Amino acid sequence: MSLSDNLQDIRSKIPASVTLVAVSKTVDEIRLREALAAGQTVFGENYVQEAKSKWTALKAEFPQTKLHLIGHLQSNKADDAVRLFDRIDTLDRVSLASALAKAMTKQQRKIPCLIEVNIGDEPQKGGCAIAELPALIDFARGLSIEIKGLMAIPPVDKDPKPYFEKLAALAKQYQLKTVSMGMSGDFETAIACGSTEVRVGSAIFGARTPKNAQ
Ligand SMILES: *Cc1c(COP(=O)(O)O)cnc(C)c1O
Repeated sequence: MSLSDNLQDIRSKIPASVTLVAVSKTVDEIRLREALAAGQTVFGENYVQEAKSKWTALKAEFPQTKLHLIGHLQSNKADDAVRLFDRIDTLDRVSLASALAKAMTKQQRKIPCLIEVNIGDEPQKGGCAIAELPALIDFARGLSIEIKGLMAIPPVDKDPKPYFEKLAALAKQYQLKTVSMGMSGDFETAIACGSTEVRVGSAIFGARTPKNAQ
């Protein structure tokens, strides 16, 4: 199947109310252009440097494009991230909120954020601990950062459903509208659990090479 067939197939499985974020890490410009030509407007990238080199010119050419940062963000890259991205989906700590707020003020460019939650309470993973979520939301809002919702990646090799349900419940508890969860292998389950936004990479662009699989 071609890339546009893949996109059509996935769109047919997603209700219109759910946003499809095409995850394009490691994807080259030729295939990005194919996705853009097929009408895809929302893209997710994991690395600031990679996104900068691939998207700076393309975004100017396709101004309706919305770029989400879905990978871990180091505070020293906050400035670059705020310049390029339309949303940061991986805000997970107070120090990063401070760095983002500073970059937004400096550039006079306000972009909304999602808070990434360590939904499986995994020590090796990024994401805000569930217990620290209300404090981080308050802190970020105190710096005038708009918090639109929550994002999470459930533990690998476990049934994702209880984790999806938990994230949706947390979003409800804190009255946050956007719930970013679900990837190529589990987006339909995520939608059934209340996802408003799915992040699909390999099912659109094909398998990534192991070196770049992240
Ligand atoms: C790579 C990635 C995805 C997409 O994964 P696929 O299994 O290729 O759909 C989604 N979310 C995040 C945070 C990712 O890093």
